[in-house]
Amino acid sequence: MITVLSGGTGTPKLLQGLKEIVNPKDLTIIVNTLENDYFSGVYVSADVDTVLYTMSDMINDEFWYGVKGDTFITHERLCELGCQELLRIGDIDRATKIQKTQLMKKYGLAKAVEIQAENMGIESKIIPMSNEESDIKLITDIGELEFHDFLIKHQSRPEVLDIKFSSVAPADGVVDAIKNSEAVIIGPSNPITSISPILSLEGVREALKDTYVVAVSPIIGSDSVSGPASKFMKALDIEVSSVGVASLYEDFIDNFIIDDKDVDKKQQLNQIVNKVTVTNTIMNNLGAKKNLAQIIMDSIL
Ligand code: GDP
Repeated sequence: MITVLSGGTGTPKLLQGLKEIVNPKDLTIIVNTLENDYFSGVYVSADVDTVLYTMSDMINDEFWYGVKGDTFITHERLCELGCQELLRIGDIDRATKIQKTQLMKKYGLAKAVEIQAENMGIESKIIPMSNEESDIKLITDIGELEFHDFLIKHQSRPEVLDIKFSSVAPADGVVDAIKNSEAVIIGPSNPITSISPILSLEGVREALKDTYVVAVSPIIGSDSVSGPASKFMKALDIEVSSVGVASLYEDFIDNFIIDDKDVDKKQQLNQIVNKVTVTNTIMNNLGAKKNLAQIIMDSIL
């Protein structure tokens, strides 16, 4: 079994490659739930849904959000009725979210996701990191902001001074999946708001210390490939570089994969990580995704 820790953009790209070369039955994916919240009456677990859509080949991989070719009839009607949606939710995507909201009330999030994954024909195990609600606040130069207000309403523009999130309990199976895996892959996801929440779950860091862990840097040079990761690292006084990312994982990481463009950082990284692999980590087509997945798998087997 291979376990992957995932957010909602970088790691799903890697999952598209991984599922081509690994039997999907041998994959467990633990997904961030830090930013989950209710919008327009439905529960939005954005990273979980992105992973569900990625593993069922439905993902809109232009935006890494929602379903490819979705329509927006309900969204448009809601706007006409004067209900402005902060998140523009597509019709098929909304159906997923309505069902998840209903299942969740009855069974909790993890079971709801298990049922949905099965209904979508997904053979991998997808586990949301927690059944509990997280609370994340961004302290910015324009005041305290909810995560999605920062990301969407303010287009990630405010300067971030600090990030605070509550601790939650891991969902059943999270720690055991790590303990029972031959390796854990930490994809190139936001180290602050996607991976750190998973690492902060009770028992996770300890379990990772006893497992072979390979991670891919989401930072190339001195910036993230996409999204606000570099802004969040700066806010927490973490160097915005692959070295800064490695410093967050140094107590459990066995192999750190950095981009060719960061080859000059290899020596410095070797002082904090056992093994450093340098390769192309930009996954802009399926070939690049499969190549990176193969390099990771070769280091494990
Ligand atoms: P979010 O939920 O949208 O923030 O998505 P993630 O947690 O998955 O984080 C996205 C991270 O993935 C960003 O920090 C990007 O820098 C990184 N990323 C996105 N695409 C790539 C890629 O092709 N290669 C690498 N190395 N990193 C990537």
